[in-house]
Amino acid sequence: MSVDALLARAPITWEELCALEPQLTALSDHALNAKRGRNYCKYDGWYGFSARSSLKQELCAPVEWHRAGTDIPVLSTPEAYRIAYFAVFNALPPCACCARKRRNERSH
Ligand SMILES: [Zn+2]
Repeated sequence: MSVDALLARAPITWEELCALEPQLTALSDHALNAKRGRNYCKYDGWYGFSARSSLKQELCAPVEWHRAGTDIPVLSTPEAYRIAYFAVFNALPPCACCARKRRNERSH
C-alpha cells in the first residue's frame, strides 16, 4: 500500500495533526528542505547514522506514546505516531546514495 493510501485511510489526517501540533509542520518542512550533498541519504537523515540527532528522534517530542501532560491526547496514540512517521519520512527528498547503490544491489 502506498503511503498516500495509508494516510487516506487513517482515522485522523496528517493535516489535522499538524493543526493540533505546529511542530509537525515545522518537522515536515525541515525534511522537505533537507540539504542534499553528493552523499546525501534520506535514511541517514531519518535515523541519524552519522549525526547526533535524527528526524525520527525529533518526531518523538511532538508525537509520543507518553506525551508529557497529555494536553492533546490524540497525539500520544500509536496511530498519530504512525501517520507522522510516514508523512515526515516521505517528505525527505530521494537520496543520492541509493541511486548509486541501486546499480549494484536492490535493497538499501
Ligand atoms: Zn541512501
